[in-house]
Amino acid sequence: MINDWDFRTAARTLNIALVPFPEDQDCRGVSRARELALRPGEPHPVFVGVHEMAHIVLGHTTLPGVIEAKFSGKSDTRIKQEHEIEAHTVAILVAEKLQLIDGIEWEEEAEIHYVYHNGGHNEAGIADHVLANADKIRSAAQIIVAAGLPQGVSV
Ligand SMILES: [Zn+2]
Repeated sequence: MINDWDFRTAARTLNIALVPFPEDQDCRGVSRARELALRPGEPHPVFVGVHEMAHIVLGHTTLPGVIEAKFSGKSDTRIKQEHEIEAHTVAILVAEKLQLIDGIEWEEEAEIHYVYHNGGHNEAGIADHVLANADKIRSAAQIIVAAGLPQGVSV
């Protein structure tokens, strides 16, 4: 990982509270409003944490009643698919920028497949959605990278 980038610093800078994992969630990470929780023992906590952070930065969690639950498998709605591919693309961009290598190749392949697979009849639409929102996605990744660095440092 890039020297000096720190997940907790990023959360603090972005005014995101790290909270205990809710017992009623069957997933790897949860974000709601400006709170983020990771399942204890998550093998890739930074990657999953950045995914959840992306939901918050992208504004997904400020929609009324929305709980973003990674790998929950509980929602197949179109908006959920769009949120997942947006957050996941941000996480991949941040991971590449930070050279966060551990486990990422697997995560990237498996999760893109997961999201596209769950896109069902509209896989092409999901890809189009990413392209149509590329600026927003790139911007969120830059915000997260910058937030985790000590002040005045850039990569
Ligand atoms: Zn998610």
